[in-house]
Amino acid sequence: MSKQSFNIAVLPGDGIGSEIMDACIKVLDRLLADQPRFDLRYTQGPGGAQHYADTGVALPDSTLRACADADAILFGAMGLPHIRYPDGTEINPQLDLRKDFDLYAGVRPIRAIPGVPSVLADPHAAQIDFVLVREQSEGLFYGRLYPELQPKANDDEAFDLGRISRKASERVFDFAFRLARQRRSLNPAKGRVTCVDKSNVLSSMAFFNKIYWERAKLNPDIGADHCYVDAMALNLVKRPWDYDVLPTENQFGDILSDLAAGLIGGLGMSPSGDIGDKHGLFQPSHGSAPDIAGQGKANPTAMILSAAMMLEWLGEIHCMPEAGAQAARLKLAVDAAFAPGRLHSFELGGKDGTRAIATAVIEALARSQVTA
Ligand code: ATP
Repeated sequence: MSKQSFNIAVLPGDGIGSEIMDACIKVLDRLLADQPRFDLRYTQGPGGAQHYADTGVALPDSTLRACADADAILFGAMGLPHIRYPDGTEINPQLDLRKDFDLYAGVRPIRAIPGVPSVLADPHAAQIDFVLVREQSEGLFYGRLYPELQPKANDDEAFDLGRISRKASERVFDFAFRLARQRRSLNPAKGRVTCVDKSNVLSSMAFFNKIYWERAKLNPDIGADHCYVDAMALNLVKRPWDYDVLPTENQFGDILSDLAAGLIGGLGMSPSGDIGDKHGLFQPSHGSAPDIAGQGKANPTAMILSAAMMLEWLGEIHCMPEAGAQAARLKLAVDAAFAPGRLHSFELGGKDGTRAIATAVIEALARSQVTA
């Protein structure tokens, strides 16, 4: 059987982006070295806040083309607080990529890794396993995505235009119900969707909620319920193990995903995928962490787990179970690397940084069986 190649656009970006990307590529090289079925070809693309400072452009056309032509995009982190556009906003090319490639579902799996201490003392914390699905094409980020529609600010007032549309809501809810069905096929205890909104106060959110229940009716095999975002912030601290798939509005998803990452060991443990109907971009949930950049302290796990999500997604859309099998093997290697007493990341007050964590994952891969 001939070996299939997937073309991956690699955008390391700013701050810790290049450190964690280097570590991730080393891990991927080790993972895929043992199997004959497929390989990854990387096309590196410059971009980010530093690139903007150097050239006046945050994402050059060559990088955009590489992303458009790629089978998937692997993204480190972009943005630096001291480099801004003339209006004072930060350089966030990831928002532009979401818009350009219509990456409407921000998928953020929150899974406790055995061996990584949780901030929650309750023993149920070991069972945390839910997925935030953040709607990313509109919501309260709409004015940032479409500045020409945004009411102009002046020195007395400023506005942010929010939008909830039927089309965007339907597709993200349908995505959430499909995901819940898929998760139930792997674990019969899963398969429930909880819409997170603020439908008791905001009319756009009442519309979001109405569409949610319309889509829930079309998916009667999946349990459906709903929670206000303020209550969800409390519940995610008190009993996060109760949840499965949580679709929500853009800004709520942005905020809750940082809170959720805190439950499982910090932003360095929390992967994500920005997924559309044609393209997928995979990046850690965190930003460029300039406070620790260049010091070897960054935890590359979120980046490595984002690469596992990429392999899972490639396997699904190309009907190649071998890619899914390698994703599963990579996740198991991460779990083995963090087995109790093995790694203690800087993020959690330990001494293990980028190199130690990547090496531990590579060693775990070397011990693991090749199943594909
Ligand atoms: P953005 O708004 O771009 O997502 P942010 O303002 O949320 O960024 P981050 O860059 O994500 O900020 O960093 C938040 C904190 O988490 C910082 O103290 C940073 O050092 C820490 N942090 C983020 N990522 C990692 C990582 N991979 N390893 C260790 N610490 C991290």
